[in-house]
Amino acid sequence: MVKNKMHLEFDSKSENESFARVAVAAFCTRLDPTIEEIADIKTAVSEAVTNCVVHGYEGKEGTITIECAIEEDWVTVLVHDDGVGIENINKAMEPLYTSKPELERSGMGFSFMEAFMDELEVNSKKGYGTTIIMKKRIGVINK
Ligand code: ATP
Ligand code: MG
Repeated sequence: MVKNKMHLEFDSKSENESFARVAVAAFCTRLDPTIEEIADIKTAVSEAVTNCVVHGYEGKEGTITIECAIEEDWVTVLVHDDGVGIENINKAMEPLYTSKPELERSGMGFSFMEAFMDELEVNSKKGYGTTIIMKKRIGVINK
């Protein structure tokens, strides 16, 4: 079985979002993904990290953790913050729901993560931060 993992920790700043998505995408290249698959992973990571910055830490200081693992043709990406947490996960995951309409958020982040990845799990508790785990199988159609 082919197994490989990596761990990233960085400050909760919006300028680190592009770094994070490129780092995860680069890590996944060993699975020989299509350009579309890479774009899907980048979008999902981008949405998850932005949520940590905007909602988890609400623009304040904090650390974001990404754990990424490759196992056979699956990639797993975990994104964690120690921020404010989510009170009602089901409501938060509804398309178009946003707790920050004043910031012109569209409430589509979780919907994109669900659409572009094969699995999405959200673990959170108000006051205890948020962990999301996303999985995607690479090369299902093309190989
Ligand atoms: P968009 O992603 O379209 O800019 P959004 O971020 O509000 O808008 P989602 O990404 O779908 O939409 O998130 C829905 C809601 O879930 C957020 O408005 C927020 O209340 C909550 N949420 C998401 N991620 C976190 C997080 N890491 N910490 C705390 N709350 C979160
Ligand atoms: Mg969002």
